[in-house]
Amino acid sequence: MGKIGIMGGTFNPIHIGHLLLAQYALEENDLDEIWLIPTGCSYMKQDCSVMNADERHYMTKLAVSEHPKMRCMDIEIKREGYTYTFETLEQLRLLYPGDEFYFVFGADCLFSIENWKEPQKIFDSCTIIAAFRSGSSMDEMEKKKAALVTAFHAKIILMPFLRIEISSTAIRERLKEGKSIRYMVPDAVLRYIEEKNLYRLPNED
Ligand code: NAP
Repeated sequence: MGKIGIMGGTFNPIHIGHLLLAQYALEENDLDEIWLIPTGCSYMKQDCSVMNADERHYMTKLAVSEHPKMRCMDIEIKREGYTYTFETLEQLRLLYPGDEFYFVFGADCLFSIENWKEPQKIFDSCTIIAAFRSGSSMDEMEKKKAALVTAFHAKIILMPFLRIEISSTAIRERLKEGKSIRYMVPDAVLRYIEEKNLYRLPNED
């Protein structure tokens, strides 16, 4: 049985904050692998104005291509309609019945996950690894964790993580302003964004 981390994300584009989170999750939890899964069309971003899924997927693939324990999967971008995490986890459990899944996200998601579609199914399908940044209030997170354990029998690991003030939004803004994003994304991703001139147009998000 493998211990598999799952990290979903819009990854628009993927950056070193995402990759360090994946790396920490791997090592701190003795995971065998971590699979990055770019979203298709998220129901929380219903206008679907985000960069097309194939580009986001390709950049994510480039970012992890040389890592022996990281993979990028296209199961969400191939799915018709909106992307729901519970469906992804159920699909993975059917495809890989021998594995145990750990869904990795920033701890803020602990406070919104009840509003995601079918939270009980999410908690039934995986253990959550919630990464909290240094300086966050532990008390509130421990309380939230306890509430989710009571309400959903959730399995939740609170994982200490770094505070890295990089976001995909800031990266897109820098590109629009003609500024460099070197070192904010892996070199291969930087080269691809430059080659394809991505995120340069005012309405290209
Ligand atoms: P994202 O913006 O691309 O971020 C992906 C993950 O990386 C998030 O957990 C985010 O945590 C973390 N992250 C980003 N920048 C970081 C930094 N500088 N340092 C540390 N961590 C960083 O993706 P997203 O749009 O939030 O989506 C995350 C997942 O949640 C996706 O799989 C999506 O499908 C899922 N989701 C599902 C539903 C549903 O099923 N109904 C609803 C909403 C989201 P932070 O958010 O804390 O930055």
